[in-house]
Amino acid sequence: MMNKQFKPRDYAPAARLPRLRATRRRSTRSGFIHTEISMTPPFTDSAEVAHFIDGQLRTGAGQRTQAVFNPATGAQARQVRLAAEEDVAAAVASAARAFPKWSDTPPIRRARVLLKFLELMNQHKDELAAMITAEHGKVFSDAQGEVMRGIDVVEFACGIPQLLKGDYTDQVSTGIDNWTLRQPLGVVAGITPFNFPCMVPCWMFPVAIAAGNCFILKPSERDPSASLMMARLLKEAGLPDGVFNVVQGDKLAVDALLEHPQVKAISFVGSTPIASYIYEVGARNGKRVQALGGAKNHMVVMPDADVDQAVDALVGAGYGSAGERCMAISVAVLVGDIADKVVPRLAERARNLVVKNGMNPDAEMGPIVSRQALERIEGYIGIGVDEGAELVVDGRNFKVPGHENGFFTGGTLLDKVTPEMRVYKEEIFGPVLACVRVPDLASALEVVNAHEFGNGVACFTRDGNVAREFSRRVQVGMVGINVPIPVPMAWHGFGGWKKSLFGDMHAYGEEGVRFYTKQKSIMQRWPESIGKGAEFVMPTAK
Ligand code: NAD
Repeated sequence: MMNKQFKPRDYAPAARLPRLRATRRRSTRSGFIHTEISMTPPFTDSAEVAHFIDGQLRTGAGQRTQAVFNPATGAQARQVRLAAEEDVAAAVASAARAFPKWSDTPPIRRARVLLKFLELMNQHKDELAAMITAEHGKVFSDAQGEVMRGIDVVEFACGIPQLLKGDYTDQVSTGIDNWTLRQPLGVVAGITPFNFPCMVPCWMFPVAIAAGNCFILKPSERDPSASLMMARLLKEAGLPDGVFNVVQGDKLAVDALLEHPQVKAISFVGSTPIASYIYEVGARNGKRVQALGGAKNHMVVMPDADVDQAVDALVGAGYGSAGERCMAISVAVLVGDIADKVVPRLAERARNLVVKNGMNPDAEMGPIVSRQALERIEGYIGIGVDEGAELVVDGRNFKVPGHENGFFTGGTLLDKVTPEMRVYKEEIFGPVLACVRVPDLASALEVVNAHEFGNGVACFTRDGNVAREFSRRVQVGMVGINVPIPVPMAWHGFGGWKKSLFGDMHAYGEEGVRFYTKQKSIMQRWPESIGKGAEFVMPTAK
């Protein structure tokens, strides 16, 4: 539902929006020359997407910029600043200054700031969703869903006083008590992908901040505006300056964060080659790292499954958000004779997908995020054909009337795909669904388990024993039984296995709290219970 203040059509192109007021001055704190931009709304709709450092929008020292497109029209909508090392240093310095006071603030008072932020997020959720559609391309209702799933984590983080409670053992030895508590790490950073510009940052910063850390977000340069909107709402909620900063940028900014000695932990979500790089460099530099990578999610359809339900699930999970979800289903593993029933119905649905500008209320699928991504996806379809897959529905060269320059492709369906093919092995990250035919459950599990990715998986069946065996034997981090996209709720934590996650802790949930805190153990006794003389043996309970 829309809120009262905002209607999607109000999301005007950059040219019609007011220019920002900017003044150039030397920062007395960091010593860097930068431009401070007025915080008067609307600043997230501006022609230029800036950094947010020390509670202010700043153009920063970096002179480079990158175009941000509206994928539905194919036109440049605005440009984003790309940070220089000095900008990262300024953000870290601001976060480090804010840390002592913020980490000393009682958890209940930190939670109250997040509660206010939660209220503001709910008030502005449609504005945020429209901003996402305008830069990412996903349909507006899907963007609303994304914002809601981000809000879920904010709600979870509001429970931080309970989550930070430690353990206590009375009388571990005579006259001695022992307890553990969790303390924040300091300055922590999050590097996020284009496909969830609100939800994925929300997997990180609400928990990190609630736990007492100060946070630097490096969002995707392809859809950077949502980050600033959330920064504005956090400020409005009363978050002290420096606790949340946004540094826009590319590899240069990421590397500066990875190298900075004051950054204690890095959360990353993105493609596997970059996740592996972040994990390696971050660990080498002594940082705590969780790096979530790419995916190739299978949905196994057993012969006893309800065909209509399975087809609905495959269409939604394969083509929703144009397949640009890390939990999208990109492989249907069709067991036994069900393949001959599923493939024709899938083909019909793929041919009739409503592909339009995502702001159109009846759109089922919007455009691809960029022209390069569109070319990569359509290139893979050609590769699949060359490899011998059967091209049942060809989505290439799809045109939307009135949006001829938009980055659109239709839904593609490939059948008789085999595990040796590149279209099976590699992440396409687009609306291309591959069907693999197998004879039984054992071979379905073999196929899924042999894949290098292990993010999400689903099994459609009516048989409880099959469901149980599947869940226990599958080598994948998130499993859905008759649930095609089993993204865990905010209090359970999100994470794949194998090359879908580097590091040992999942995002958000209690694992998130553990990631952003370190445990301290305190053992205490009072002078009355201390015996006489030095003890040279390993102390044991007495
Ligand atoms: P990406 O890896 O290209 O970019 C992610 C982030 O890394 C961005 O902020 C980008 O600026 C930065 N980056 C890009 N190249 C870099 C480099 N060479 N050095 C340092 N930093 C670099 O990913 P993307 O295209 O934005 O997002 C799509 C990918 O993210 C897909 O592979 C998808 O599966 C994955 N993803 C995974 C999850 C998950 O939870 N496992 C969730 C969402 C997306």
